[in-house]
Amino acid sequence: MTAPTHLNKTELARAVDLIHRADRFALATHVKPDPDAIGSISALGRALEQLGKEVVMLCDDLPPDDLLMLIPGSDRIVDHLPDGYQPDLFIGLDASDPERLGKVSEPLLAAGQPVIVIDHHITNLMFGDINLVGSGYAATAELLIDLIDALDAQIDRDIATALTSALIGDTLAFATSSVTPYTMQVAARLMESGANLHDLIKRQSNQRPFDQIRLWSIGLRSVQLEDQVIWAVVPYQERSEVGLTDTKTNLASFLLSAQEAQIAAVFREGEDGSIECSFRSELGWDVAAVALSLGGGGHAQAAGCTIDGSLPAAVERVIPLLKQQALAGIQSG
Ligand code: 5GP
Ligand code: MN
Repeated sequence: MTAPTHLNKTELARAVDLIHRADRFALATHVKPDPDAIGSISALGRALEQLGKEVVMLCDDLPPDDLLMLIPGSDRIVDHLPDGYQPDLFIGLDASDPERLGKVSEPLLAAGQPVIVIDHHITNLMFGDINLVGSGYAATAELLIDLIDALDAQIDRDIATALTSALIGDTLAFATSSVTPYTMQVAARLMESGANLHDLIKRQSNQRPFDQIRLWSIGLRSVQLEDQVIWAVVPYQERSEVGLTDTKTNLASFLLSAQEAQIAAVFREGEDGSIECSFRSELGWDVAAVALSLGGGGHAQAAGCTIDGSLPAAVERVIPLLKQQALAGIQSG
């Protein structure tokens, strides 16, 4: 199987060498983790343990219940480094910049041990000593196959399940334009290794908690469409009044299903007043550029950022940028 754009073979060989020589590992993934984050860290953690390594898996935010149930080994993820644990190698996964790895990673990024960055975001800042970064991969999990193979670890059923969940998450069940023939080859291999594709797709794509639908009903009250940009806001107070402060929004992809829209945005107000922005776009329209200009990142078709200020101020600042981008997409398309 040949992968699309690729991992630099020298970097991969250097990573393999460094991993073979290290004994104590700290792995970390991004704040507010998604299936690719949790699936990738759990799979790599298990592969390293097969090789006899000691592994601590870290994330500022512990996996939500649905991901804990879906992804084998994700219950091992902790939000702090155990007392006295001194890793000799640190690996960051699915995060395009150091901040995105959260507070738990700050001391590890500042410490002297080497850092390997494993990621597939086009906006990656290459902040590791070794960067296994390829934006042609549909998910960090897809890229990890190369590393797990190069390490001579086994893709057992649990690893296959974790990686498949990750792939389904980032590709919306193989429906995004980031999916390549190689993605499907990886999926086939993971099925052969024991992943139950049908069951995982059903649980991840075609089922959602009722609370999420209730949350959509809050967001949909404010939905607007102008100049091919569709957006909605989700105020904190309205979420807290009905007990939905912890429910994920996951609304932007649904908004993009409007035939008249090329770009979708959801603005979700946090308890601290910060605004989480979530962007989606059709092929040919780039939302990563807008997210990056606002201090965030992501992919051309799915990106995000967190900004300060009120919800109306965020909308006023961001929507003109997205409208410009909608126009630019038409002109270049
Ligand atoms: P979502 O809308 O699902 O939260 O995020 C979509 C994509 O944008 C994901 O691939 C995620 O990694 C990226 N993203 C979202 N928020 C941020 C952010 O604040 N910083 C960076 N660097 N990437 C983000
Ligand atoms: Mn990812």
